[in-house]
Amino acid sequence: MERKEDKLGEFELIELLTGEIKNSDSSILRDFGDDTAFVRYGKEILLLTVDTLVEGVHFLRRYPPSAVGWKLVSVNVSDIASKGGKPLWGLITLALSPRVEIEYLRELYRGINSALKHYGFSLVGGNTTKGDKLCLDLSLIGVARRVVYRDTPKVGDKIYVSGTLGDSKAGLELLLENRKSYTHWEQRLIEKHLKPKARLDLAQAVEKFANASMDISDGFLADLRKMVKNYSAVVYTDKLPLSEELEIFCQHRGCNPLLYALEGGEDYQLLVCSDKELTPYGFSLVGEITAEGKGEIYTPDGRKLEAKGFDHLKS
Ligand SMILES: [Mg+2]
Repeated sequence: MERKEDKLGEFELIELLTGEIKNSDSSILRDFGDDTAFVRYGKEILLLTVDTLVEGVHFLRRYPPSAVGWKLVSVNVSDIASKGGKPLWGLITLALSPRVEIEYLRELYRGINSALKHYGFSLVGGNTTKGDKLCLDLSLIGVARRVVYRDTPKVGDKIYVSGTLGDSKAGLELLLENRKSYTHWEQRLIEKHLKPKARLDLAQAVEKFANASMDISDGFLADLRKMVKNYSAVVYTDKLPLSEELEIFCQHRGCNPLLYALEGGEDYQLLVCSDKELTPYGFSLVGEITAEGKGEIYTPDGRKLEAKGFDHLKS
């Protein structure tokens, strides 16, 4: 018999399961439902997060293992960066599938190590087990000076994003074509998907100026919807930052780069609401929180934007 849970999307399932946990610890500032958990420990605010990469879902065996290792670290650091925090220590769990070679794992760990050096924190322990597929899971503890939640913007706040949007989705499509050779601009898009850089360089700006902040992992619109769930917002669709590479990609294929920017997942850029001017810090101004509401998002000419994003459990 098909269970109700089988039909649930990722977010409904999380809601159903976390509803079973009744935390009563007063040091928990926020548990489920944000990029990280927030807990007070003495004078510190600790940020706790975990992310998993599963072979066949998030990566293929033919991808360079060092890039998979880099990405495992980066997606976790991205959540800490989006809270304006600093990563401190990580723990790893590896589920090893049969026939994974030792040289593959060494390359994977070289990638992990180069990311640890890049972001400036340490891996301090872990666990290995057997599995049907290669599965990599990283837990990370960070620290922050103040709480920056994902869904607490203020009416009148400007909406900002870092970097460019949609590149990772284009890079993934190119990767899946599995061609023998790629042009330089195609390689740059592929690199954005394989080796995203967490925006830890912007964490200080988030810590100083953000009223709400999160990283873009499921797609700009899908993630913005989580941010503005109690508000309505306008998005300046013509201001969404696009890379030259994505524009060329879409010219060649007759596709619309705006759709990639709105719906593409895994860019790991930051989405920030603030009443301060953040463009000097490298952010692009892409919208505004207009009123309280129920998550309605509009274009400047009043059309409603529907959020899709991608949902691993439904696809
Ligand atoms: Mg996140």
